[in-house]
Amino acid sequence: MKSANDIKAVLFNEKEKDNDITRRFLQLKGPYFQSYKDDEELNYNIINLKKIYNSKEVIILKAFKGRFFQTCPGSRGVTCCNYRIVNTGFNCLFDCTYCFLNSYLNSFGILQFTNLEEMYREIDIFLKDIDPDYVYRIGSGEFTDSLMMDNVTRIGENLIAKFVPHGNVMFELKTKSDNIDHLLSIKEKGSTVLAWSLNTERNIERYEHESALLHERIEAAKKAGKAGFFLAFHFDPIIIYDKWEEDYCELIRRLFSNVGRDKVVWISLGCFRYSPGFKDVLREKFPDEELTLEEMFPGIDGKYRYLKNKRIEIYRTMKSCISKYTDKPFIYLCMEGVDVWHSVFNKYYDSSFALENDFGFYLRDTFLK
Ligand code: SF4
Repeated sequence: MKSANDIKAVLFNEKEKDNDITRRFLQLKGPYFQSYKDDEELNYNIINLKKIYNSKEVIILKAFKGRFFQTCPGSRGVTCCNYRIVNTGFNCLFDCTYCFLNSYLNSFGILQFTNLEEMYREIDIFLKDIDPDYVYRIGSGEFTDSLMMDNVTRIGENLIAKFVPHGNVMFELKTKSDNIDHLLSIKEKGSTVLAWSLNTERNIERYEHESALLHERIEAAKKAGKAGFFLAFHFDPIIIYDKWEEDYCELIRRLFSNVGRDKVVWISLGCFRYSPGFKDVLREKFPDEELTLEEMFPGIDGKYRYLKNKRIEIYRTMKSCISKYTDKPFIYLCMEGVDVWHSVFNKYYDSSFALENDFGFYLRDTFLK
């Protein structure tokens, strides 16, 4: 698995030498460090570094001018769960074939935001008005992997501490790494959730390059559960192939024979999907990829997916495999419409609000009382 030790170069703003995040990266042994004065000089440095390193070997430390805290934008025509997102950076050390970040071909380097006091300020504004009877799910792994280099940045433990006083906020750190040892001794965990994206060994080997192996992720989840964290798992993207059912059910069996079932608060299911244009980007980066060879069709949001009946069959199979081991976690679908939800769960969520309500009250009554 790739880690912060594999970083080859770090670009940092000269004016931010004393910034907490910058200082932490400057302590790394090994990378080439280059300062910049302004955006013009940063761009010049990037052009030079591009000749030597690949995009995922370079960390760019930079203040972020956009919004740190937002509600997941979802997708047109699908039932969303009103998940809130904290943006801590952009891009990732790992190199998943299917990663939507590959669409941003022109962006170079892994952006690590430095002005985190602004992030905490935005979170404070949100927390000021929350309803104590409602459950909020917030996570930081949308545009990056939450934990891939968290032992360096320590953003995870700071965010955990920020949410601890609010037991009704379930803060999720989502990862494909096993980089959790630095979090295990945290005493005040509040309602923190450590979450892993899981896939079959075959799919990890083919499509999730440089990330932790399956047994490493499961081992890390086992340790996290023992340390007292809530756990969550994301089977997303589910990628089918000959005998996929056997492999996914075996994966679920392996998972639940290792982790404490009572700690698992939610499980998401999502079939592989991609936006128009993504196929060309993918072919350029991974010419031998086989991901898009399956028959896939555009849906209401323009994204290509397996046929609806196939997706329903996949979700029913996954749900039935999970139910052999536990009925406790809230299982939800990512980026699916009302009809698929209804066919799989016999539930009718005609709005994101309806799903968020059901999800939140279930978590409150099952895990937070
Ligand atoms: S771990 Fe997530 S963010 Fe990183 S490359 Fe894979 S899909 Fe993209």
